[in-house]
Amino acid sequence: MIIKRAKTQGFCFGVAITVKKAEEAIEREGAEVTTLGHVVHNPQMVAQLEAKGLRNAQSVDEIERGTMFVRAHGLPVETFEKARAKGLTVLDATCPMVTKIHVQAEKLRDEGYKIVVVGDPHHPEVKGTLSHVPGAWCISSADEIDALPRASRVGVVVQSTWNGKGFAEIVRRLTEKYYEVRAVNTICTDTKNRQSEVDGLSREVDVMVVVGGKTSANTRHLAELAAMNGARAYHIEGPAELEAAWFAGVEVAGLMSGASTPGWLVDQVADRMDVLASDGR
Ligand code: SF4
Repeated sequence: MIIKRAKTQGFCFGVAITVKKAEEAIEREGAEVTTLGHVVHNPQMVAQLEAKGLRNAQSVDEIERGTMFVRAHGLPVETFEKARAKGLTVLDATCPMVTKIHVQAEKLRDEGYKIVVVGDPHHPEVKGTLSHVPGAWCISSADEIDALPRASRVGVVVQSTWNGKGFAEIVRRLTEKYYEVRAVNTICTDTKNRQSEVDGLSREVDVMVVVGGKTSANTRHLAELAAMNGARAYHIEGPAELEAAWFAGVEVAGLMSGASTPGWLVDQVADRMDVLASDGR
């Protein structure tokens, strides 16, 4: 079996920076560094960082002292304020691409546009973006547009890991309802590259394996895109989930990863796929 691997694999640059900053902080401050939510959507990486001493909390109230580490998704403005008011040190590792979304949304608001954020309202990144533009509307599908209030000008930004085709359709539908629509495609370059690669690759293979945390939105979108193109797509978190039956009689398989999956894990998956395809064990 030939395994075709996507060019863009392993950590995106935002996650790579975040993980490096987290490791440096733990080294400097030991067990006094706490994240709100896991640093990356990858259980193996989370386990490694926690073994080194990184703590995890669900809210600022749970952090008694030390450093609050802000992961790549960013955090709502109020959370930064609350942590500082409590005397915590804030180490901000928000991905620059996410910060750019905040800046774009604020700029559009200052220019008089009613802001529409396209994304999952429950996603931490989207919650952070919405906190920068209070009163903004958040939608995750074109079906929600009919229920939006009236406005003359709307300015649109989108979650960094959103599906590009879905975003284009939402913007098209917004133009049918509103007189002026100004949309900034804030889907990050890494996400665009991965989506375009999986789009091409999944048309050339029988089976597509996408590696990444089950809670990772971008990994989920990649597997969905591959399935839409007719490939048998499997979203796994690691080599142990692979099954020999998936590759029986398969001549070409594709392999790709989400942005929060370390490169070494993708290599392990490739090795295991090779073994399963060769001897089925
Ligand atoms: S997926 Fe994009 S926005 Fe998210 S951390 Fe990576 S580079 Fe940044």
